Amino acid sequence: MRKRNTQAMQEFLADLKGASFHRFSTRIEDRIATSGDLSGIPCFHWRWKTRDLPEVIAWPESTGDLQLILDHASTHGIPVTPRGAGCNYTGSSVASSGGIVLDLKRLKHRFEIDVRQKRVTASAGFSIGSIRALAHQHGMDLPMFPTSFHVSTFGGWCASSPGIGYGSFIHGTMQEALISVEVVRPNGITEELKNGAEIHSIAGCEGTTGIISSISMNLVNHHDHSSMILSIPSGEIASVLAMLFKINSKGSSIHTVHLSRVPSIGTCENGLSCQLRVITMERQEQCKVREYLEGITPKTPMRMQGESIFNPDARSSPFSRELQGLSCKNGSQVNIVDVYLVKTDEIPNIMKKIDELAGKINAPLPRLDLMLSLDGRARLTVSCTAHPTRWSKFLMMLGLMHRIKKTMHEIGAGNYTQGLLNVPYFKKYRKEQWKACLEMQRDFDPNGIMNPLKRTTSIISHARLNVMLGLNFRLASLRTSFRRALGISGKTKLVEGTEPIEQALSLGEIPERKHLQKCSFCTACKDACPVYNLEQSEARSPAGIMRNLLSNIIEGTPKLYQLSHVLEWCTTCLACREACPFNVPMVNLIEGARYLTQDDLNSGRDSRINFIEKIATVGNPYGEESSGFPDKVENGTCGDRKNPNGFFLGCTLTHRAQECATNCINLLNKALVVSPVIFGAGNECCMGPAIRTGQLECRSRAVTNPRQKSFQVNDAIKKIMNRVASKGITTMITSCPGCLLTMEERWKEIAGNTFPFTSRHLTEILLEGIRNEKIDFKQVKMKVTYHDPCHLGRGVGIYEQPREILNAIPGITLLEMEHHHHDARCCGAGGGFRVSHPIESIKLGKQRLLEAIKTGADALVTACPFCRNQFIKVKEELRQDGQEINLDVLNIEELAWEALDKGED
Ligand code: SF4
Ligand code: SF4
Repeated sequence: MRKRNTQAMQEFLADLKGASFHRFSTRIEDRIATSGDLSGIPCFHWRWKTRDLPEVIAWPESTGDLQLILDHASTHGIPVTPRGAGCNYTGSSVASSGGIVLDLKRLKHRFEIDVRQKRVTASAGFSIGSIRALAHQHGMDLPMFPTSFHVSTFGGWCASSPGIGYGSFIHGTMQEALISVEVVRPNGITEELKNGAEIHSIAGCEGTTGIISSISMNLVNHHDHSSMILSIPSGEIASVLAMLFKINSKGSSIHTVHLSRVPSIGTCENGLSCQLRVITMERQEQCKVREYLEGITPKTPMRMQGESIFNPDARSSPFSRELQGLSCKNGSQVNIVDVYLVKTDEIPNIMKKIDELAGKINAPLPRLDLMLSLDGRARLTVSCTAHPTRWSKFLMMLGLMHRIKKTMHEIGAGNYTQGLLNVPYFKKYRKEQWKACLEMQRDFDPNGIMNPLKRTTSIISHARLNVMLGLNFRLASLRTSFRRALGISGKTKLVEGTEPIEQALSLGEIPERKHLQKCSFCTACKDACPVYNLEQSEARSPAGIMRNLLSNIIEGTPKLYQLSHVLEWCTTCLACREACPFNVPMVNLIEGARYLTQDDLNSGRDSRINFIEKIATVGNPYGEESSGFPDKVENGTCGDRKNPNGFFLGCTLTHRAQECATNCINLLNKALVVSPVIFGAGNECCMGPAIRTGQLECRSRAVTNPRQKSFQVNDAIKKIMNRVASKGITTMITSCPGCLLTMEERWKEIAGNTFPFTSRHLTEILLEGIRNEKIDFKQVKMKVTYHDPCHLGRGVGIYEQPREILNAIPGITLLEMEHHHHDARCCGAGGGFRVSHPIESIKLGKQRLLEAIKTGADALVTACPFCRNQFIKVKEELRQDGQEINLDVLNIEELAWEALDKGED
């Protein structure tokens, strides 16, 4: 292992600053967030952190930046680890020897699509999903793409898996699709590599011979794909493959053939089964393929998987969820992966040999993944996982992988990796290739700085890391046993700060190891996160926050004040919870962790601490003394006291959108015939803003007012519920999704079985009013687009009611934005984000507003007063920047009241 040279690092950073490059960070939260990928390798740093965390993260934005960094790194002998989205299984983006991690996600200086020549040229930092989306606009697509294309970067994909990918069955290998690659060598020199051997030296080298800055690739015509998964018996593989090739020789639209054998998932009547995924460009083709395949296995019929036909463009398929769950369960397993290029007709023989080898040493069977190509080649990935505490199993698997490697060499299967990878394999079996590697290193990387983990002996690294990880876990459990023996609570908590109080436990998930270990670091949440997409920084992604929380719990790094800085980067939009295949309660964990960090005055969260102080003093987070509503509304006396319906106004309607409040009350009078009893006006907050920002009590040392000091969110909620119950309310209606979510999740949690009423959204009541013919609309000629508020859609699942109301208004044309329903983008205002990060909050709002403008609608309609106000603010900002926006922003009740047939004529 490389010894740290602090002096060299200081000089290196001084050189970067001297050259006016400042886009780097030495902050612990950034270093931890980028410390791992899906390989399971990151875990080891929790005890040996001083050696194995990167020391610097840099965000180059141009080829010039890359040249500068590499040149200086080479001069000072600083190890360099390039990183794309960090979603590979082989540790390619883990800085095992410290040094600098080059986070390439902001490298987006070049993007061209040549429609005539059908090619795309893009910088390494673009996600494959965004390239595909832009290509689709021209009726084209990439010829192949990885499963994680939503988040993987173009450069990372090309550098780490340059071969047979999705689509390769019909389009060949990725290296064949590449036209040219621009690469910056470790000495800072830039080269343009053209097809052939030159590309082979860089594509797949995982950053060991240079860093890819941009790529030119052929495009193909875009087709809608649909995918089918079949379970087939292991013994039938040969005939199934033969049949697939036969079908294809007659002309078919088969696009991808992916065969996967995961021993712990699939068994069938005659032993192990394989999952066969066939992606076709025509849906009818699937039936044909299935018919053919079923015809050859009459005794052991193939079974379709649960949701067998799905869109392969979906962010997470049931199939990949299953596989992800196995390969990186608990985020603490270590993967040992080898990739080979094999001939298709050798596959049954190879599988048999692998099983025999495992049988000889009594080892579990490894997982096998095959991507097939039309020309008779296939990429075989052999992988096995081992839990860190089971060293004997790990060593057994390591031995098995070694034997497989030897056998594969004897069969003539090429090791798939390029550049300076897999040194043991090259050294032992491919002397020529080994010599070429050494020459390459001499030429390009004489100081040996590039991606140390991949350049050196990755297998040995795996062994080392696993043993260290195991030791770490053993020590941790020993420590817990001692604590238990001494009568100290065995509960893990964030290591710094105050004890979680009972009240807090009922209000959110206080992060504990058991919650955090549900996360596999699969990165599915990253693409969904608006903040990550805006910032392109791992520490500001849900997965990065998870890494930091886990690291804090286990080793106390980062400290709470550093952690609170990380926790601020969340709008509580729930998109990560929606995307997570393992149901990690991400937002609840963030809220709980925010609560634990509330005390820290160094955290820079002073502005948000005001929320709870204002609520304690005047009853609302805006700090408004009076709402300006008539007394009878403020005191909750509007409406019939015997009315079972209540309307919870909420702070935003009361203080920042009174015109909407009046519309809501008027519409409810129509829909319910009698006025509801009003709650929440003036000084009655649902406590949502306090809970979202982790402020459950006034704990700031600056608070001296006794009324504020004794204020508890829990007590305040109980008080409101008692008042509601005392008035005999059985249905509580609200127009604010934030209030509704708080009632649904937190109020119910506090009340337990005694929750005294049902909470409903205004749109549900209005829709009933329309259906019962209590509400009638006149003609309003308008094109509108609907923005799903995060807490209404992903929070409580109300998507269709607002749309049905809009469709019920004659003359309204509803146009959907690119992201809608579950996938709707956040307005950027929630979770205290607008207060803590006003500039970024406006940027998020602008993105969404521009999406709405793209639909060609006359108005953006939403069903949340908070979102509405955010969009009005964003519109004003754009106007001040000189952009005139011809798009009205309306809350649904504003439009509904405008359209209401009031019988005036
Ligand atoms: S709630 Fe939204 S903003 Fe917060 S981490 Fe999840 S996806 Fe990102
Ligand atoms: S929170 Fe869920 S989606 Fe995000 S990395 Fe963890 S397991 Fe994957």
